[in-house]
Amino acid sequence: MSSIAENIAEIRRRMARAAQAAGRDVSQIQLVGASKMNDAAACRAAIAAGIDALGENRVQELLGKYEEGAYEGAPLHFIGHLQRNKVRQVVGKVSLIHSVSSLPLLEEIEKEAGKRGIVQDILLEVNVGNEESKSGFAPSEVFAAAERARELNHVALRGLMTIPPAASAPGENLPYFQEVARLYIDIGEKLYDNKLSYLSMGMSDDFEDAIAAGATLVRVGSAIFGRRNYFV
Ligand SMILES: *Cc1c(COP(=O)(O)O)cnc(C)c1O
Repeated sequence: MSSIAENIAEIRRRMARAAQAAGRDVSQIQLVGASKMNDAAACRAAIAAGIDALGENRVQELLGKYEEGAYEGAPLHFIGHLQRNKVRQVVGKVSLIHSVSSLPLLEEIEKEAGKRGIVQDILLEVNVGNEESKSGFAPSEVFAAAERARELNHVALRGLMTIPPAASAPGENLPYFQEVARLYIDIGEKLYDNKLSYLSMGMSDDFEDAIAAGATLVRVGSAIFGRRNYFV
């Protein structure tokens, strides 16, 4: 077994334990491999090991690996900061954009999906810690953004995504995850007839807390692919 396959198996075991502890069914939680800075071979190994989807966060890197066939056999998601001038390159190529962080970006995706005659599935990103350094809607803005998304014909809002502030201790992010879970439930009840499916939160260091709070998509990178080398 490749180390990627072993890592995925171990993450699956931890997901199952976290789900059980929360009284949840692990089959309702998908594992998205955050494959940035990992090559096409690593992506293929993750797909062979049964990853539910791969998520990229840089458009250039996604396009290059796409050309190499890195994602064949698994859904591809976009999880990173998306600039409006790159929307064209992503819409229709990915099954889910996790990181819709502003109304102008939402409108741009609508426009591009409209041109192509498709409906693009999206999540709204919540800047739950109200951090300057992060994009996303403030918790107080996300309901209105969901109302706007509901009016559009070429985007389908499927849920919310968040990246909480960097934690200095285990468990520290649980209240942030719970806050976003409350927003997700509220928006689902009031605007979407309880039909939202995706609450995307939790990474290598905190996916168990995210599962405890109700995550249905966890985005795991380094715990699957190994530590990223930012200097190559
Ligand atoms: C890289 C990345 C992850 C995964 O981070 P790890 O800590 O390596 O698990 C998750 N979400 C987003 C948006 C990322 O860019």
